[in-house]
Amino acid sequence: MAAQISTSGERESTKLERLGAHSHIRGLGLDPTTLEPRGNSQGMVGQAKARKAAGVILKMVNDGRIAGRAVLMAGPPSSGKTAIAMGMAQSLGSDVPFTMISASEIFSLEMSKTEALTQAFRRSIGVRIKEESEIIEGEVVEIQIDRSLTGASKTGKITMKTTDMETVYDLGNKMIDALSKEKVIAGDVIVIDKSTGKISKLGRSFTRARDYDAMGADTKFVQCPEGELQVRKEGFLALFAGDTGEIKSELRDQINAKVSDWREEGKAEIVPGVLFIDEVHMLDIECFSFLNRALETELAPIVIMASNRGMTRIRGTKYKSPHGIPIDLLDRALIISTASYQPEDIREILTIRAQEEDVSLAPAALEILTKIGSETSLRYVIQLITLSSLVARRRKAAQVDVPDVRRVYTLFLDEKRSVQFLREQNSLLIG
Ligand code: ATP
Repeated sequence: MAAQISTSGERESTKLERLGAHSHIRGLGLDPTTLEPRGNSQGMVGQAKARKAAGVILKMVNDGRIAGRAVLMAGPPSSGKTAIAMGMAQSLGSDVPFTMISASEIFSLEMSKTEALTQAFRRSIGVRIKEESEIIEGEVVEIQIDRSLTGASKTGKITMKTTDMETVYDLGNKMIDALSKEKVIAGDVIVIDKSTGKISKLGRSFTRARDYDAMGADTKFVQCPEGELQVRKEGFLALFAGDTGEIKSELRDQINAKVSDWREEGKAEIVPGVLFIDEVHMLDIECFSFLNRALETELAPIVIMASNRGMTRIRGTKYKSPHGIPIDLLDRALIISTASYQPEDIREILTIRAQEEDVSLAPAALEILTKIGSETSLRYVIQLITLSSLVARRRKAAQVDVPDVRRVYTLFLDEKRSVQFLREQNSLLIG
């Protein structure tokens, strides 16, 4: 795939495909206080240990307690590694960035692999900005509302005595509603958040509200679509508009310096997010050394890697290592393992998936799908739901039954049968 990491179209399409496969996952399905996994919750079934471990990591991320850590999810194909990562993404706060890449994407980009990784790293770091200057506080002197306008287009002006001057502020429709909801009248002390238009009443002028300090400025989180610094302020982002390709290191240094100024002035806060690297064994030794170094830097997210490989050669070397990951990186990683599913779990996941796809399965069809799932893979059997429902629809049946499943099972091979077929037909195939 000749894609650029910043080419939104291509990224969108990968995302859509993944969203499809995991659209039933709405979180990790954990009890919020104990972090114990619930039996069947938020689309998640089984894999209790791994979900709990993921929940612990999530908690640390949300508390802002960890950055620059590596987590490895290791387990057989279709054992829910990506599903758990998706569950984590759903449970993260809305202002914590989550980026998902597949290791092989790194090599298909029109930029160096380390540049691609750097951009993925930076997309996974958020900067929370406290826009203090965007707030006006003051005593209301006068409110004027254009009474001739009604409904959706009310406008008006508010004159406020701020610390040492009078400010006239133009009011939009929503703000007028907020004024009436808060019952603001002349003499009240109010705060207007200029970025959101929110109006809060602090009290009358003689009781200057003490809680204003505690309230502080509203924080605002901005995410840059192009993957570079996630800040929108003073036209700063304009530097990265459009297709960025390689980003010059001087530019990155400038941004880092600016962010660090803001942090010192208390205007910005770094939010380390999560970078999920699927099929991590596809990275090569140079990427791994880059990862090792990058994890040490101040602006590092949590890197969650996933692999379904056992002892594998590390790409770019002749050495073998567990999961194809160099020992020094493995050594610093927290490892979460996922195990193959038992038939009960498969049955439940299939039931959830059928509901998600609006497919009605006859009990016997569910049983046969469960059996196929235990012998092949969860991913394969999930696909059979969609396919067999198409077959059922063709015969105008409202419910998928055993013959529909049988039919698609013979039409579409799973991995094992495909390998078997290759063996048998080897002499007839090119190669
Ligand atoms: P691979 O190593 O092949 O990439 P994986 O471990 O990432 O596999 P997934 O893609 O997460 O496997 O799982 C395969 C399918 O099964 C997906 O559609 C996923 O949403 C679903 N699934 C896996 N585990 C669970 C689970 N515990 N609960 C609900 N759905 C699950």
